[in-house]
Amino acid sequence: MPKDFYELLGVSRDATADQIKKAYRKLAVKYHPDKNPDNKEAEDKFKEISHAYEVLSDQSKRAQYDQFGHAAFSGTGRGGGGGGFHDPFDIFSQVFGGRAGAAGGAGIFDELFGGGSFRRSASSAVDGADLRYDMEIDFEDAVYGADRKITIPKMVACDACGASGCEPGSKRIRCTRCNGTGQIALSQGFFSIRQTCPACHGAGEMVEHPCKKCHGEGRVRSERTLQLHIPPGVDTGSKLRISNEGESGMRGGRTGDLYVFIHVRPHEIFHREANDIICEVPITYTIATLGGVVEIPTVTGSAKMQIPAGTQTGTILRIKGRGIPALRGGTRGDMHVRVFVEVPRHLNSEQKELLKKSDESLKPEKNLPLKTAFGKKAKPFLR
Ligand SMILES: [Zn+2]
Ligand SMILES: [Zn+2]
Repeated sequence: MPKDFYELLGVSRDATADQIKKAYRKLAVKYHPDKNPDNKEAEDKFKEISHAYEVLSDQSKRAQYDQFGHAAFSGTGRGGGGGGFHDPFDIFSQVFGGRAGAAGGAGIFDELFGGGSFRRSASSAVDGADLRYDMEIDFEDAVYGADRKITIPKMVACDACGASGCEPGSKRIRCTRCNGTGQIALSQGFFSIRQTCPACHGAGEMVEHPCKKCHGEGRVRSERTLQLHIPPGVDTGSKLRISNEGESGMRGGRTGDLYVFIHVRPHEIFHREANDIICEVPITYTIATLGGVVEIPTVTGSAKMQIPAGTQTGTILRIKGRGIPALRGGTRGDMHVRVFVEVPRHLNSEQKELLKKSDESLKPEKNLPLKTAFGKKAKPFLR
């Protein structure tokens, strides 16, 4: 009587695909014939769990098994290798990432853990890291652009050894730790796994005499000063990418890039919205009432702006094309002037008299339409 597939793998009937795979991996390693030479029991167990895994890892086969049990799969027998099942070694090889096909255990292990081939040093190349540099600039620099010198601490190619890591006169030799394979075997009983050689990082070769300046790394910690051009139009959040100014790579890896993150300091009178500038401009009671010309500061010089008579606080007047230049071409932003009336303070008695007289002469309907309309709507609430 064949054993229950779920019981064989030691998982519950509602186990996830992941749990099933994990359970199989654990058992397959435990019962692999290469680890249990001349042990018929282990071999049978290995086959059984392979069959169980083959069925339970396949959604439609698993559904059939759940419904019909072993009857769904003809030719299954305890210890039988035939029937509707694949070679257990193929299953094993598939799960562990090797190429399927080899019938013998040794073949699978070679495939699984990589052969003894001499690895090319390119495989151990480490790319240099990209670097981030945060830069605060003034509002004016964002508008007009600027040139800045920045100094970045970073790993740069060692000039003593030309980034090779070898002391002048010495050369690279086959790694003594892994004998040039780039991998070392870690044994756990019979079963062994291979890891990237820590001495050569998988390169299979090492420096005979490490460069004294960079200790064989091929790069050293240093500082680099760059001339940086900040284009007009940048804003907080703009990123400038400077190719190949990141950290140097190792063992032939590429050099990283430098990213400069822009932060624009707020300005006292100019507030930015996209490429437009908003400026709050105080005007006098008289200008607001009678109208007149006021001088407006803009980033392209002063502008004379006509204030219409009867202008209220909060009115926004636009001066076209006096905003911030577009970073990647396109139209320049506008200047938005938001006026507010500054109410005079600390009046002397003569000034107070004049104002009162002026106020008394006003005709509410004509001169103060907002106040009149408001009064009407508010009436029910003013009792
Ligand atoms: Zn090595
Ligand atoms: Zn060096």
